[in-house]
Amino acid sequence: MRRLRNVKIVATLGPASSDYKMIRALFEAGADVFRLNMSHGTHDDIRARHVIIRQVEQDTGRPICILADLQGPKLRVGTFANPGGEELIEGAAFRMDLSTAPGDATRVNLPHPEIFAALEAGTSLLVNDGKIRLHVDKCGKDFADCTVTVGGTISNRKGVNVPDVVLPVAALSEKDRGDLEFACELGVDWLALSFVQRPEDVLEARQLAKGRAAILSKIEKPAAVKAYDAILRVSDGIMVARGDLGVELPVHSVPPIQKRLVRGARAAAKPVIVATQMLESMIESPVPTRAEVSDVATAIYEGADAVMLSAESAAGKYPIEAVTTMHNVALSVEKDPTYRQIIEASRVVARETVADGIVAAAREIAEATNIKAIACFSQTGTTASLVARERPRVPILALTPLMSTARRMSLTWGLYAAITAPQDRFKGAVLAAVKAARDGGFAGQEDQIVVTAGVPFNVKGTTNILRVAPCDERLISSADPE
Ligand code: PGA
Ligand code: MN
Repeated sequence: MRRLRNVKIVATLGPASSDYKMIRALFEAGADVFRLNMSHGTHDDIRARHVIIRQVEQDTGRPICILADLQGPKLRVGTFANPGGEELIEGAAFRMDLSTAPGDATRVNLPHPEIFAALEAGTSLLVNDGKIRLHVDKCGKDFADCTVTVGGTISNRKGVNVPDVVLPVAALSEKDRGDLEFACELGVDWLALSFVQRPEDVLEARQLAKGRAAILSKIEKPAAVKAYDAILRVSDGIMVARGDLGVELPVHSVPPIQKRLVRGARAAAKPVIVATQMLESMIESPVPTRAEVSDVATAIYEGADAVMLSAESAAGKYPIEAVTTMHNVALSVEKDPTYRQIIEASRVVARETVADGIVAAAREIAEATNIKAIACFSQTGTTASLVARERPRVPILALTPLMSTARRMSLTWGLYAAITAPQDRFKGAVLAAVKAARDGGFAGQEDQIVVTAGVPFNVKGTTNILRVAPCDERLISSADPE
């Protein structure tokens, strides 16, 4: 199944998208990556969705990437007696406290004693991505009495930001540690870390994950924007988490930050996801606003690896339409000649290693001739990510014997991951690449592809061969070195 686009689509699963039929429909509509949000749902819910995704993977024969998003030290209110939540009216009194009784129109649980300890009268509490504003009139060690200054609907487990106060919170809560181990045991491919503030936060998660999942840092705190280069260096991928970023910082500062984060991640050959509110109106409506379509397009023009749906696919009325919209925007943008101009103007040219040089040459050769695809052998995904960094005009086949690598790579721009038998001879590798190109519909018998590989095989970081191969197996058998 070829998508005919380079940018990937991440769809968050939730109550609106948890049965086989819907998850399969989302995959078929274009979702490449499914996000399991550990902030919502029980371990049983998450496990059930994970099992269904792996079933879809098996039934469709395509590697599917799963991203488990850890809540991190995100502050959230408790639950309400009314499942739809409550409407807070401007000027009304509202209390947050440590009582676990279900919330109503006058109060709700805020299960974070550390906030009450750090709060002062006069500060603001922002709820639900900053949509609701509360002014703290009076507070103690287990409550805060507030006045609603901007009203709206508050409901179960909505996020709370306290931008004026520095909170002494650890990078991974007890819950996060439990969730991390649970997700790794399930076999997810990526872990997303919320509210990363320092590179040490990433290293701590990496130590706990022990290589079982790649680590993606969500940039959503002013401190993380400041320490971006250091955080990027120790992360495997990045999410521009615009929801909390636009609450913690002025909203108008988000677009330039998005551009900087995407450029940085592209230069580092690490996948970057642009996330949150991309098609927000589609939670309720089958068609997006023009501005939302333009926002998705902007991320694609910037060369982001992936665009993401949150509530649109997890809890909205039109999950499939939302994925289809992203897919169609991607097709439209990627065939625009301006897209290629922008992508190429922002390509990284500093190259240091043999592998950097080989993948650049592969792109140049493929683009200058009528070559149909670049096939690269990649054990860890590193070489494939270097090919993707080139943002070539031709499709990229990322070949690996490891299912875990194939799944992980499915988040990266342009990579079509496929499993091949382990290779130990060059000729066999070329034959496998040609077969994958033809099976995937990338090339016919008359065509040629570029193959990159590393000899000896199965050693990390040895990419040292570039071969222009005919897709006619008979020609390969007679001509290629063993
Ligand atoms: P969240 O992260 O959906 O887990 O809050 C994304 C964001 O903040 O944009
Ligand atoms: Mn967030």
